[in-house]
Amino acid sequence: GSNGIGRGLQEKYDATIESIGMFDHSLEVAMGVHYGLFAATIVRLGSAEQRERWLPGIADYSMPGCFALTELGHGSNVRGIETTATFDLDSGEFVLHSPTETAQKYWIGGAAEAAKWTTAFAQLYIRGENLGVHPFVIRIRDENHAPSPGVTIADCGHKCGLNGVDNGRIWFDQVRIPHDQMLSGLSSVSRDGTYTSVIKNSEQRFSAQLAALTGGRVSIVCGSNNQAKIGLATALKYAISRKAFGPPGREEVPLLYYQSHQIRLMPALATTCVLSLGSNKLKQMWYACKSGVSREVHVLSAGYKALATMHMRDALQVHHIIPFVYSSFFFWALGS
Ligand SMILES: Cc1cc2nc3c(=O)[nH]c(=O)nc-3n(C[C@H](O)[C@H](O)[C@H](O)COP(=O)(O)OP(=O)(O)OC[C@H]3O[C@@H](n4cnc5c(N)ncnc54)[C@H](O)[C@@H]3O)c2cc1C
Repeated sequence: GSNGIGRGLQEKYDATIESIGMFDHSLEVAMGVHYGLFAATIVRLGSAEQRERWLPGIADYSMPGCFALTELGHGSNVRGIETTATFDLDSGEFVLHSPTETAQKYWIGGAAEAAKWTTAFAQLYIRGENLGVHPFVIRIRDENHAPSPGVTIADCGHKCGLNGVDNGRIWFDQVRIPHDQMLSGLSSVSRDGTYTSVIKNSEQRFSAQLAALTGGRVSIVCGSNNQAKIGLATALKYAISRKAFGPPGREEVPLLYYQSHQIRLMPALATTCVLSLGSNKLKQMWYACKSGVSREVHVLSAGYKALATMHMRDALQVHHIIPFVYSSFFFWALGS
């Protein structure tokens, strides 16, 4: 199916998660981390056997997971991450290690409390040679929810938003994982340490390994638009129903009759409509992308993400200023 997930399933998942996000953005992100990043990495980068082994537990949440790519020292520049995965030829295991303080995994959604597993990205070393960034499945907490041996976890603490998501930090101290826990759909290491990959070009291989992030970007575009719509709907309802001033000696008129008010709301509404058309088109292009790797969707989703998030910020600012008292009540009512 499309994106390696199955067309109908991906669409149902997006509809579900976007609807949840209209009411609880943190829950949307928490689910997005588990299904959209952790599971999607295994779907796209795992072998058929690995998908069969792990996906049932991921689907019923008996295997809660997170996605550990970013490090304290490297965010946008993913290629520079410092975590190492050294193949031990004697035992046939991979040894995951955070060699410096800046190698700690940082901002990892679900890591501080919920996750028992992670898909972690690390520089693969075989016989001293660095073969670049590769994905591994690591158990970070045991049955009693205590950190696994060699794993240290800390909470990122209070954030200025999205506090329903437990972002955390992870350190690996010579953590040994079995040979079959390197995600081997694209690249693999045989028991004797021979490295093979279906993508020979290292640039293309790197891009393919980050493909799980494209779905995340598409969903951030749609989620941002939804938040802009919620804010603007509140502001518009207020502007239509709230009456103030009016011609001398006549009835008061709705706020929306005032040009100064229209100028604040209408451009934001028009931009939201256009961005909605664009994000729906982007979603269709993503569903149609059979391999889950598309340069066009990658570039468009990155551009739209910047546009949609900045627009949401501006639209919510308008919403926040105009019907302040009523909007506070609206969100209080939603929250309860
Ligand atoms: C709430 C939250 C949840 C997150 N969840 C996860 C998660 O679950 N798993 C995970 O792995 N990561 C997660 N992240 C991390 C996220 O992926 C990184 O924050 C992101 O990759 C950016 O990295 P950075 O924060 O280090 O910013 P930096 O890379 O330091 O960038 C800082 C600023 O510089 C700009 N910049 C950087 N490079 C360039 C350049 N070449 N040209 C122009 N401008 C540039 C950036 O756009 C940005 O504005 C999360 C982050 C947040 C805030």
